[in-house]
Amino acid sequence: MPEPTHIFECTPSDLRDLMDELRLKPFVADQLLKWVYGHGVTDLDQMTNLSESTRDRLREAMDFTRGTVVTRQDASDGTRKILVEWDAPASSLPLIDDPAARDRRTETVMIPTDRRRTACVSSQIGCPVGCTFCASGIGGLDRNLTAGQIVEQVHHLQQLPDADRITNIVFMGMGEPLANASAVFDAVRILNASWAYGIGARRITISTVGLPAAIRKLEHFDIPVTLALSLHAPNDKLRRQLIPWAEYSTIDELLDACDTWFQKTGREVTLEYILLGGVNDRSDHAEELAHVARSMRANVNLIRYNEVDGLPHRRPDDQSVRSFQRILRNGGVNVHIRASRGRDIAAACGQLRHEST
Ligand code: SF4
Repeated sequence: MPEPTHIFECTPSDLRDLMDELRLKPFVADQLLKWVYGHGVTDLDQMTNLSESTRDRLREAMDFTRGTVVTRQDASDGTRKILVEWDAPASSLPLIDDPAARDRRTETVMIPTDRRRTACVSSQIGCPVGCTFCASGIGGLDRNLTAGQIVEQVHHLQQLPDADRITNIVFMGMGEPLANASAVFDAVRILNASWAYGIGARRITISTVGLPAAIRKLEHFDIPVTLALSLHAPNDKLRRQLIPWAEYSTIDELLDACDTWFQKTGREVTLEYILLGGVNDRSDHAEELAHVARSMRANVNLIRYNEVDGLPHRRPDDQSVRSFQRILRNGGVNVHIRASRGRDIAAACGQLRHEST
């Protein structure tokens, strides 16, 4: 028997082909899209305009969801986090503290502000990069998520009680998105499509630790997304200490790739810089970073480190963060300190894991 088709990775034309194979009318494809994306309904029994025999045929041929929300946590600042278990064995309900399920789980976060509801989605289970400050990379990569599993995370966030519509997407959850580029690009096409969630291209940010060849591929991607480069160090020596994959590229090569990105797309790059107390937050680091940011015409987001149990880094104090920002500003760089959201439920940057915390 062929594997069921996952609705969250289908385009309208994929669905119409499937309806043809199932000897169903093409308009059933449109009805399914309306239920799933228009009404958030993934339970065939609730799709009341489909006949029973149509539903029976679809039940055998399609998966509507492949993930189960195992836990949900709400932070005091309104941030919400869900732990999703993928492809759980049909025989059992997922158990919260099941160590055997660790390699099937990812976390997804919803960050609300006045005007936005941002979904921070995962692209891989675990992460192959292993940055020294990040919980997601502990234990390495388990596997890539499919495009459908990436899109389905947005569905689960929108199903939370009192949830508002997601307006923005950031690929800053578990995983290095450009190490799973083909699934990420397919997911972006669906998230952006008017028949699905219709999220504007500029409201979708792909964040990478910096793979110059993959950034070049992104220049040719047909959806004009926003690019964020997680630099975290202003020179190659320190970058290689913090980000193991930095040994495969230099900051000069990244400068080149980002310059071409700017020439081709006309869009500025944002540099993400996690400030680790006593490691990359000295004034000479700020001066070096100002030089890099000016060469890239990049804006800089400073992120105060969020502590992770078992990792050696500490959060810098407010005064040193402000003085780091001042040096960048005086160096002519557009720089912001990003608010840490969801710290009390370990949903902040670098804190996402495979398990419930
Ligand atoms: S910071 Fe990003 S690239 Fe580095 S280990 Fe964490 S998820 Fe992976």
